[in-house]
Amino acid sequence: MFSTSQAWQTILAHSRQLDPTRVPLSAALDRLLRTDARAEADSPPFDASAMDGYAARRTQVGQTLRVIGEAQAGRPFVGTISPGECARIFTGAPVPATAECVIKQEDVTRDGDAIRIVRHEGPNFIRRRGENRRTGDIIVSAGTFLSPPDLAALASAGITQPSVTRAPRCVHLVTGNELVAPEHTPADAQIRDTNSTLVAALLQRAGAELIGHAHARDDLATAQKIIATFPAHDVLLISGGASVGDYDIARPLLQALGYTLHFQAINLRPGKPLVFASRGAQLAFAIPGNPVSHWVVFHLFIAPLLKHLQTGAAAEPARLIGQIAAGCKLPPPDARQTFWPCRAKIVNGTYELTPLPLASSGDSSGLTGANALLPVPQSTGKLGSELTVEFILCP
Ligand code: AMP
Ligand code: MG
Repeated sequence: MFSTSQAWQTILAHSRQLDPTRVPLSAALDRLLRTDARAEADSPPFDASAMDGYAARRTQVGQTLRVIGEAQAGRPFVGTISPGECARIFTGAPVPATAECVIKQEDVTRDGDAIRIVRHEGPNFIRRRGENRRTGDIIVSAGTFLSPPDLAALASAGITQPSVTRAPRCVHLVTGNELVAPEHTPADAQIRDTNSTLVAALLQRAGAELIGHAHARDDLATAQKIIATFPAHDVLLISGGASVGDYDIARPLLQALGYTLHFQAINLRPGKPLVFASRGAQLAFAIPGNPVSHWVVFHLFIAPLLKHLQTGAAAEPARLIGQIAAGCKLPPPDARQTFWPCRAKIVNGTYELTPLPLASSGDSSGLTGANALLPVPQSTGKLGSELTVEFILCP
């Protein structure tokens, strides 16, 4: 049986970065930029005033100057400033070429057309052309997941259709004779389908597009027909039926669809019967139906895969350092590699972890508040309250 690391290496071996596409800035948030964005002009594009005040030649405290014109943002002063003269100027306005400084309006007194300089401290309040950036400088590097300030920087350079990795396209088939949609009241022996909601939200967080979703009964032929109706996709997720029970259809279903199975179980709790398969560039997971297994498997393998499809860079989820909260009940030891859902919060600048008191991996509402995964050391004898541990943050 594969370890979680072997499973991840196997997934990586079948994953390739997706193609770039151009999208408008309004659709570019959190997408991976594929080409360096460069400044198309100097910034600022001209010497600009940093203050509301007066633009003048070199001046002295006590001097009186005559105001001969005005420079506004977007409306320059055209004319020459001679010694003894100045122009009214506002923040963002071009500084006239003949001016050597801007005097803050708080540092003068004004009487009609004349100002008198009462103070002149600090810098000259001119933002020089190109002092932020020169034409051709890189403003956002390829490989950046675009943040709001990055988008603003692209807008400033006139890059309104950046080249980004297209979002991974996913489809989700949820299986189970016992499932009813959340809006229905379960009859005897039925339960509400919670995984569809969970997976849709997790995919959204991971920057993927859910382009097809359906529920199938545990019947291979029907499930196969439904999957055939899904639009072209990069990743197929099948919920439930991943194990070896009589009604578990996921493995024969993947095989019937022409997928090659790369692993069919991993040394993991919860989530042991996870199946990973590929068909050309298309990748598929069959995820054991328990909602907690879904959450764990998604953060350990599916979210990192979706990231890899976007970046092409192989990174396992980052491990942070935290402390188990005092007085916590700890997960029971197990021979399998256990990843336990926890609530992580920052206390006095340090992460504090509270393992969730889950009764079983079927406890979907018990997952509420989970935002971290704790790899439980196999020799659990050592794991105690207030112990320092590694964990994975699961946003
Ligand atoms: P399975 O992996 O299909 O054997 O399912 C394992 C357990 O998870 C069973 O108790 C199922 O009823 C439950 N389960 C399967 N799919 C879902 C779902 N979509 N929502 C909630 N529970 C589920
Ligand atoms: Mg099932």
